[in-house]
Amino acid sequence: MVKDTKFYDLLGVSATASDTEIKKGYRKAALKYHPDKNPSEEAAEKFKEISSAYEVLSDSQKREIYDTYGEEGLSGGGPGGMGGGMGADDIFSQFFGGGMFGGGGGASRGPQRGADIKHSISATLEELYKGRTAKLALNKTVLCKGCEGRGGKAGAVSKCSSCGGRGIKFVTRQMGPMLQRFQTTCDVCSGSGDIIDPKDRCKTCNGKKTQSERKILQVHVDPGMKNGQRIVFKGEADQEPDVITGDVIFVVDEKPHSTFKRKGDDLIYEAEIDLLTALAGGELNIKHVSGEYLKVSIIPGEIISPGQIKVIENKGMPIYKLGGYGNMFIKFTIKFPSDNFTSEENLKKLESILPPRRKETIPKGSQVEEVTLSEYDESKHESSRRRQQAHYDDSEDDDEGAGPGVQCASQ
Ligand SMILES: [Zn+2]
Ligand SMILES: [Zn+2]
Repeated sequence: MVKDTKFYDLLGVSATASDTEIKKGYRKAALKYHPDKNPSEEAAEKFKEISSAYEVLSDSQKREIYDTYGEEGLSGGGPGGMGGGMGADDIFSQFFGGGMFGGGGGASRGPQRGADIKHSISATLEELYKGRTAKLALNKTVLCKGCEGRGGKAGAVSKCSSCGGRGIKFVTRQMGPMLQRFQTTCDVCSGSGDIIDPKDRCKTCNGKKTQSERKILQVHVDPGMKNGQRIVFKGEADQEPDVITGDVIFVVDEKPHSTFKRKGDDLIYEAEIDLLTALAGGELNIKHVSGEYLKVSIIPGEIISPGQIKVIENKGMPIYKLGGYGNMFIKFTIKFPSDNFTSEENLKKLESILPPRRKETIPKGSQVEEVTLSEYDESKHESSRRRQQAHYDDSEDDDEGAGPGVQCASQ
């Protein structure tokens, strides 16, 4: 007599159902309540419960625990709470082979999908402009060619019945009032999950099922790719038996450029021009990431101010896959001449050339003090500010008259 029939009821089978009947029951119930077919919340909940029920009843050990102790016997309590258990979608895709409803259903997650392998691939702006192909050698684990990943001669390898091929077993023990579940390595197959007669064991992999292989991947960094963009080689990660092989993913690592900054598809260039060019025109040459030189004419009469930004259209980066180009922004700084660069006589001439000086005024009757400009010296001028700060903070030592008054007011 079983303690609880809930799991059997979920699959619509009797408590004496055979493994085949349980499978049939799960198939029927899972298809009925699968979220892709039945998108209500109740159905999603039911689908999860059905999956949990199947996970337990399809495993002879778990079924025995359930039959004897009910749900409480399975550590972690209710459905879905089982330690090391699989998600409902995983059970479903394992059962039906995945992609049941046009790819949307049974998305493979969890144990039966192998890990992705990530590498970064560095690229300069020049390379991201033109694109480049890199050949990268990779050591990967593949299914043994000698035995096609079986570990031995065809038909000579059987799944370990003691652990169901998992290589691990769950042992339930009574610890005082609690039932505790322990996970141990299967003693029958020593954790491999298989039983192979030593004489039938594959000589190539010695029963390991996999071997190492060197593989060359051609990585295409396409024009316009950006920092952090991924180049995916589907199913090129390490292979393992009964596992969907993960992907090898290359992540673009854009190297900083000595003259350009990149912002999306645009390039930013800081150009320093001399004052004469800024005022009277001239030329600016820019070595572009394409390799060509851009000859920029600053037309006489066009005044460039410090910090001004101008645009050269369509001279940014190529736009990935869509075609076309971003823009190039030129941010100007002006190199002014140094002190005493010319005679006083020439400076007088500037007065007749440049727009007149702005008229500075002070309101009538104001008190006026004449001051001088000194060269700014960070160490000298910043420390004097600090000294001044200390002087105000330290009111105890203050003997300048205002101090004691402030003290009295605050007490
Ligand atoms: Zn082999
Ligand atoms: Zn085993």
